[in-house]
Parts: sequence; C-alpha cells; structure tokens
Amino acid sequence: MKESRPPFDLGRLKVGVLALQGSFQEHLAVLTGIGVQAVEVRLPDQIHDLDGIIIPGGESTTIGKLAVDFDLLEPLRNFGKKKAIWGTCAGAIFLSKDAHRNQPLLELMDITVDRNAFGRQIASFETELDIPALEVINSTPAPFPGIFIRAPLITAVEGEAEALAKLPDGRIVAARQGYLLATAFHPELSGDDRVHRYFLHLIQESSGR
Ligand code: GLN
Repeated sequence: MKESRPPFDLGRLKVGVLALQGSFQEHLAVLTGIGVQAVEVRLPDQIHDLDGIIIPGGESTTIGKLAVDFDLLEPLRNFGKKKAIWGTCAGAIFLSKDAHRNQPLLELMDITVDRNAFGRQIASFETELDIPALEVINSTPAPFPGIFIRAPLITAVEGEAEALAKLPDGRIVAARQGYLLATAFHPELSGDDRVHRYFLHLIQESSGR
C-alpha cells in the first residue's frame, strides 16, 4: 500500500460508518488503519458531531428500509447538504436520486443508477481503474483495484455531479458532487486506502480547512 502524505490532522477527524447492514466493518478497519476515529452509526443522535459519513455496500433496499425505521433519512439528508458522505455500491445507490425502483433513497446526488447492472454471470469481478481525481492526495498514478460485487452502474451524471472513474468502455463507476462521493465498487475490500484518503480530503474541503 502506497503511503501518501496526510492532508491535515487526521487524528482529529471523526468519521461515522452507517452500520445498519452490509460491509461496514471493513470501512471501519481502513479508517482506523489510516489513524482516523471511526464509529458505527445506527441512531440519529450519533450523527451531529461527525465530520463525514460512509454508507457501505450491502443491499440498498434493506439499508433504505432500516434507515426509514431508525428515523435516519432526514438526518442523513441534512448532513449531506453540508458535509461529506461517501456511498460504496449499495451506499452509492442510496445516495442517488433515481434507481429505477421504488425504494427509499437519500436523493442527495444528481446521479441515476442501474442496480445489478452486470448480470449474474459476471456479478462479481475485479478490474483496474484509472481515477485521475486521486492526484489531490499525492497518490501514485497506479491504477486502482476496483472490486465489483453485484454492482450498480451510474447511468446518468447531471447538474453539479461529475464522473470520477469509468470502465474502459466508458461506463461510469464513480462520481462526485461537491463533498458527496459515490463508488460502484468496494475500495474497503481492496487493500488500497487511496479512495478513503480521497474521501478524507473531501471532508477537509467541507470543513474549509
Ligand atoms: N446489488 C446490491 C443492491 O442493489 C448492491 C451490492 C453491493 O453493495 N455490493 O443494493
């Protein structure tokens, strides 16, 4: 794993990982490895003092339903209007404004997603991704190992949102909108912490530091 220079005092950051369902432990482990305080989030009153929130992969319908049951929908929406949120896979679906299905969404990002876009045969695969945006964390230009597990595609990026990574055929698999980040793949499973460090950079920007 390539070391990159910390953008600012990472030890002072507190990042929450939505822990309703899915691969939240893996995100907590990467954040802790970087030296950030990382906490599980299940209740609305656990959000107010966080600097950023990660919504993990899992099953977006389940995460959405549990977020409704735990009264987290509005608190997360309000948080995302000012501060940084990153959704991986199911989390990216949950951040989107449209997933072509009737399921609870945060609708924070001006992106449309196509769930389970890769079909059954190749539902899970790994491929190298070029993510030029990682330059801001002094990353090496090495490709990023993209791990896709029953992943969505980002089929439309509109308004303030911009594409950050594409497959070789041009299909979009990562997007950013201000301090909001969506990745169709799973950086927390890749053994490469550069996208986590990029998210910490977005948190730094959101705090004006
Ligand atoms: N297929 C899942 C969904 O549609 C996402 C899979 C994942 O998060 N790895 O919600």
